[in-house]
Amino acid sequence: RIDGIIAKYLDTGRLSKEEIEFLLGLEDEADLQKLFALANKVRERFVGNEVHLRGIIEFSNYCSRACLYCGISRHNRHLSRYRMDVEEILEAAKEAVGMGFKTIVLQSGEDPFYSTSTITRLVSQIKAMDVAVTLSVGERRREDYAAWKEAGADRYLLKFETSDPDLYRRLRPGCSMAQRLQCLTYLKDLDYEVGSGIMVGLPGQTLSSMADDILLMRKLQLSMVGIGPFIPHPATPLASAQAGTASLTLKVLAVTRLMLPWANLPSTTALGSVDREGRREGLLAGANVLMLNVTPLKYRRLYEIYPAKAEVEDDPTALKAAAVELVTRLGRRVSSGYGEGPKAMGIA
Ligand code: SAM
Repeated sequence: RIDGIIAKYLDTGRLSKEEIEFLLGLEDEADLQKLFALANKVRERFVGNEVHLRGIIEFSNYCSRACLYCGISRHNRHLSRYRMDVEEILEAAKEAVGMGFKTIVLQSGEDPFYSTSTITRLVSQIKAMDVAVTLSVGERRREDYAAWKEAGADRYLLKFETSDPDLYRRLRPGCSMAQRLQCLTYLKDLDYEVGSGIMVGLPGQTLSSMADDILLMRKLQLSMVGIGPFIPHPATPLASAQAGTASLTLKVLAVTRLMLPWANLPSTTALGSVDREGRREGLLAGANVLMLNVTPLKYRRLYEIYPAKAEVEDDPTALKAAAVELVTRLGRRVSSGYGEGPKAMGIA
């Protein structure tokens, strides 16, 4: 059956929900290799052999939300909380830019301590360093997103996490999926390159709901999609849940590449955290981006959204050197450009 699905895909560029579900359920090693090889070929044809490196600064682990899966949920009383001040954030950005990063990602919990104007200031000062700026600070008002766009922000990451409404409600108490999707619409209307995505292997998630997730990503015509395994954190209500596997994550990644051939898809830190070879395997199953942690080391361990996160101890120079080596070993190139997504390239 897999050969038939691949032939149809190559012919039409389409997959039905049932076909997606079938691909996500593959177990046979030879079939899996066919899926990953196809995703790798589609990646090469549509976004080429360059791998884009992004430097991510996790500037605050305060969060006003209570997501059941997340280690920095406001209910975690065992965590020391930190906030980087503007000067520290700019210093970290400057260091990353000095190392050659062409995109700086600013991420935090949902922390109202940083006002709209503070983030506006950060965006414009980092933009002045001649890099692309990606924000990932959660659900905010349309006006906030507009102000940051005006200040020069290029991209925004806001995962919808799961498209299953019941699961969403259970995992993110006090939040609504409609609101999250509304934020994604605001961002799209404001001309951001919009990134979203999911966790794979959430308790209660099914292959059918993940197929719906992929169809939603396509409907939203996302420029970037982050796909990582769910990893249970001991200080959360999901402490004893099973982690998502690298193998299922790779299947979701590969099918996402088929459905969104132009998108920028990272081989995520979470994937590298459940499997030592995860990031390499992700790059061979459709991914074309690596996000490297450039948060100052003294804070790194405290941004513990899940335990045993990869890269908590390596300084940015070592991380970059390892990434360059990995990319080169795969016969690919580290990009020297900003790594715009399809929207900026005038495609989506
Ligand atoms: N507050 C912002 C938001 O909600 O978009 C950004 C920070 S949030 C911690 C970043 C991402 O971490 C989430 O989108 C979620 O997918 C991921 N995450 C949180 N807990 C996780 C876990 N236990 N395992 C894997 N990923 C997790």
